[in-house]
Amino acid sequence: MTNETWGLVREELIKRVGRNNYVTWIEPLKFSDLKQGVARFEVPTSFFGDWVSRNFSDHIRAQMNTAGAQVERVEFAVANRPAAQDAPAARPVSSAPRAKQPARSNDHDDVPGAPLDARFTFDSFVVGKPNELAHAAARRVAEGGPVSFNPLFLYGGVGLGKTHLMHAIAHELQTRQPHLRVLYLSAEQFMYRFVQALRERQIMDFKELFRSVDVLMVDDVQFIAGKDSTQEEFFHTFNALVDQNKQIVISADRAPGEIKDLEDRIKSRLQCGLVVDLHPTDYELRLGILQQKVELYRSQYRGLVLADGVLEFLAHRITTNVRVLEGALTRLFAFASLVGREITLELAQDCLADILRASDRKLTIEEIQRKVAEHYNIRLSDMIGPKRVRTIARPRQIAMYLAKQLTPRSLPEIGRRFGGRDHTTIMHGVRKIEELMATDSQLNDDLQMLRRQLQG
Ligand code: ADP
Ligand code: MG
Repeated sequence: MTNETWGLVREELIKRVGRNNYVTWIEPLKFSDLKQGVARFEVPTSFFGDWVSRNFSDHIRAQMNTAGAQVERVEFAVANRPAAQDAPAARPVSSAPRAKQPARSNDHDDVPGAPLDARFTFDSFVVGKPNELAHAAARRVAEGGPVSFNPLFLYGGVGLGKTHLMHAIAHELQTRQPHLRVLYLSAEQFMYRFVQALRERQIMDFKELFRSVDVLMVDDVQFIAGKDSTQEEFFHTFNALVDQNKQIVISADRAPGEIKDLEDRIKSRLQCGLVVDLHPTDYELRLGILQQKVELYRSQYRGLVLADGVLEFLAHRITTNVRVLEGALTRLFAFASLVGREITLELAQDCLADILRASDRKLTIEEIQRKVAEHYNIRLSDMIGPKRVRTIARPRQIAMYLAKQLTPRSLPEIGRRFGGRDHTTIMHGVRKIEELMATDSQLNDDLQMLRRQLQG
């Protein structure tokens, strides 16, 4: 196995771990050698090595074996430093990368946070109706002025730009207020570091470290739901920082109140600041994002011709999330340049058949519930809860009706997702709505609008 072979193996890993993980964790690995079935890699920090070892070593080993190497074990060592000295430093420094490259970790050897993706800036974030509030709030935090809301809580489904916005805040703060200590990490990493501190009896260092930052950003906080001691520590960290008037930014895949197994006192603290959601993308936003991407690609794929209507087609058909949308475009350009053809509608349909198929069955019952709850201004939890008052029961029936109409799910399956209700209850709900539709024009309007929004 040579460096070149590793380069190829590495590329293959993109498919297994996803592009974001790839850029963050795989690309920075430096292949050292392969001896007696042990493949060694250099990593920038021990934390980094630990992380890759826990999360990706199986993938790496499998992929290397597929490429013909004989690897039984993968090891990671910190470059040029004796192992004893690579314990995480107690002093946090800003985790923003200095270069315009995707974050290389040697930029921040002793940083406890996660590497930032240099492409996730405000410049590259396309603003549309579904994300304008979240964007405005993120901008405000990024100015680094006096803290006006704490925390900023961003939530929304997968791939709608939460991580992008958080990284953008970190980049911007790094430029405007380089003296600030900005710490970005995922809730998972928070837990991992906490557990490590416990194990190594460095809990005081841990506390000091997290209490001495100016801006703390914790991504995907739903991860700590149900993890009691991590929650406890998170709560104390949170309070300590709020007391010192330090800015906190949190993201999650749902609203604070909707995160199960999260302590009430944490929920209410999270709700104290500004809670904003990123709505599912609409057609205009998707088109905007595609257009922006194409501009970037123009220099990379010079001479490629893009036929009219292709972007519109993609924006119309791929409604799941932005990550999938970007992936589709990337693949399309790569494929077209490989075969030297113009990017036409036909080529897109061929080359993206799997993505388009998957997008077709995208709508989930959960999305329907969310949308309907939002429309009627009730809580998502009431969709599955027991309340029977009309103001809640009717929207719930509407959601049942739409679930039956717009997804391929059976009545019992729908029942399960409505808090374990019986299929006869669902049938009753569906019939009720059908009955009402005959006379209630307001209901008809509502349904039409909901259907349109849900189907993108
Ligand atoms: P999340 O953290 O909400 O799951 P990410 O922030 O990782 O989503 O976004 C997924 C991908 O989509 C990223 O590559 C990101 O750059 C891109 N993306 C999401 N929203 C936008 C947007 N409004 N403009 C440009 N790119 C976006
Ligand atoms: Mg994310």
